Order: sequence, then structure tokens, then C-alpha cells
Amino acid sequence: MNSEDYIRLENEYGARNYHPLDVVLARGEGIWVWDVEGNKYLDCLSSYSAVNQGHCHPRILAALVEQAGRLTLTSRAFRNDQLGPLYKELCELTNSHMVLPMNSGAEAVESCIKAVRKWGYKAKGIPYGQAEIIACENNFHGRTITIVGFSTEEQYRDGYAPFTPGFRVIPFGDASALEEAITPNTVAFLVEPIQGEAGIIVPPEGYLREIRRICTEHDIAMITDEIQTGLGRTGKLLAEEHEGVEADLTLIGKALSGGFYPVSAVLSNKEVLGVFQPGDHGSTFGGNPLGCAVARMALKVLIEEGMIENAVRMGEYLMAELRSIPSPHIKEVRGKGLLVGIELFEEAGGARRFCEALQARGLLCKETHRNVIRIAPPLIISQDEIDWALERIADVLMTL
Ligand SMILES: *Cc1c(COP(=O)(O)O)cnc(C)c1O
Repeated sequence: MNSEDYIRLENEYGARNYHPLDVVLARGEGIWVWDVEGNKYLDCLSSYSAVNQGHCHPRILAALVEQAGRLTLTSRAFRNDQLGPLYKELCELTNSHMVLPMNSGAEAVESCIKAVRKWGYKAKGIPYGQAEIIACENNFHGRTITIVGFSTEEQYRDGYAPFTPGFRVIPFGDASALEEAITPNTVAFLVEPIQGEAGIIVPPEGYLREIRRICTEHDIAMITDEIQTGLGRTGKLLAEEHEGVEADLTLIGKALSGGFYPVSAVLSNKEVLGVFQPGDHGSTFGGNPLGCAVARMALKVLIEEGMIENAVRMGEYLMAELRSIPSPHIKEVRGKGLLVGIELFEEAGGARRFCEALQARGLLCKETHRNVIRIAPPLIISQDEIDWALERIADVLMTL
């Protein structure tokens, strides 16, 4: 079968909830992927930052295969020999006290919403049923009913009502808006350190520090959703480290899997996650030994192989070079580490056609919102490979 055959199959039998580029991938290694015809592409999306370590990283693959042949699933009815070590390693790396293992990013967000609400009633004495959580405009936290209920993206919500109450939305990057929105019933503020799906929106310097101060002052839980910004993507293990802050709860997912096997986690202080008693929450696959073994190795290679430092160096280089491209289409280049957005002017006619042109030149990028091209390759990319990509990006931006 060729690409067209596979695309026809997908279109005939699959739900149409995505608009993918028409490239059918069959193999990946490091920063490269190959389609079924054998064409090679540089992956500049990294599966929305789930493959920060590069495709099919050999050490993560070995950990997966070894664990898959030994023990894969026990459910949390029993204990397993991977879970405790993963907890300890995560807590030591992120300075957390307690971990809740889940599977997808959206599940980590949902679990954290349950935890902060329960904490609000138990520890803060908020009248039952009145807890409020503040989130930001243009947020992206996943696709469950509760989560899309506080999205400000019309399409994410359209047709799915009724939604879960108890959320308020304020502008992103505006600390005083948070201060004004807090009521006696507020339990938490949920925020992305950099808004990824909104188009790589970087808040003003000092925003996270201000948020931290406000949350502490009002005794509300600060939740950072680091599912996309975390695990090295922005040049720190967690993006909140850029401002030297520690959230009360931090959500990770995506790259915790190294791209192999869905695994996510809520990282917390003892106070909030400590509210869960046996039976309060659960997941059949959450904390399974296969996922834990993969996550442990995904973290290990990220650190041992210097990927975070590489993201700093390559990110600075990439952004500086992108800014020097004299294209009339570029409105702004922004980002941190290897999470980079090129915003185009409205007149450029949308980012999609540039992504399609890049595909023809061997670069896989995906537009985010209408006018932003996201450049987020695996963190193992070298300067030569960035130069290779830059040549093609400049070509497309100068000639289209
Ligand atoms: C991808 C993402 C999620 C959702 O993760 P899933 O694994 O797709 O459920 C949540 N928050 C942020 C910031 C994300 O980028």
C-alpha cells in the first residue's frame, strides 16, 4: 500500500477529529521520520513535545522491552517494583513531596482538579459545592468535558454542553487580573508557564513569580500545567524554574513517556495530594510497571545525555537565526528553549501553506492557530541539523 491507500483507509473508517498533513509515517529514529515511500523528514513537532528524547530512543526502547517481558500491569490493587522508584526519582528531580501517576495529560489535569477541590473543602472550609478554580484565556489543558468547559476556544466547546461549573477565566500574563478574580471560594489557579497550543505565548518576565506571591498570600493552590513546557522543552526541567518558583501542583505528561507509552503525573506538596484517601480516585493503568519503567528511563536519558542543556544552546541559536531571516511574512519569533513559534502577518495567508511547503522540503511542522508555525524538534538536535532546517525555513518564508 502507498500513502494514498493509507490516507483513504483513515478517511473511510476513522473519526475526522484531526486535520493532519498528508504524510504517512512508518519509521522514526532520533530527530528523523520516514514515510511509507521512504522519504525522510526532520520532525519539528516532536508529537507536541512528547518525543523530546527523539524517536525510538534506544535506551528507552530497551527499558520498555525488558519490562514488557517481565511485568506490565498489576493494577493498583497490588504494588509493583517500578512505582516507588519512579515516585522517588520524580520527587528528587522536581523537589515535590508526593506523586499521583496517571496516563494522559488530560487525566492529570482532571485528577488535579479533584484534588484541589477536595483540599478546598477539607483544609480551607469552603462551603461544599462552591469551590472555584481560575484558569486563563486561550488555555489548553486537554479535551475532556470538564476541561473544554473552561476553554475559550469556541470549537473546543461547540456542541458539548452542558459543562462542569466552578471555573473562571482571566487574561493570561496579567497578575493583577488574578488578584482581582480571587474570591473566598477560590481554591486554585491553573496556568501554563508558556501557552503552547495558543501559539507559543510567553508571559511577561516576572509573571510566574507574581502569581506565586499572590497564590501564597491568598492561600490558593498554584497549578502549573507543564505537560508541554516540562521535561526540558524550554531549557529547564520545568519551565517554572526559569523564574525560580515552585508551584503547589505541577502536571507533567507527554515527554514523560519518551513517546513510547502514555504516562502522566501530578506532582504536589503533601498538603494537597494528601487529601486523597483509599478509594477517592483511581485508574486501572495509572502507575503500571511498564509505564513507570518507561518514565524512569525517559527522565534518566533526558538528564544523563545533556538534552536540557542542548535545548538551551540550540534554542538560542535557532531563535537568533530565525529572527535574522528578512522575510516580509514574519511578525514575530518567540519562545524559550526549543519551544519556538514563528508568528506570520495576517496577509501571509495562514501558516498551513508554509507547513505544506516545508513538508515538500523534508521538514514536518504544524501550524498552531492560524498564523503561527511551531518549531519544536526533539531536544537532541545538533547545530548542523538546525542549519539544515533553517535553510529550508528561510527558503519557504522568502519565496512563498
Ligand atoms: C497536550 C496537553 C495537554 C493534554 O494532554 P493529553 O495527553 O493530550 O491529554 C494538557 N495540557 C497541555 C499544556 C498540553 O500541551
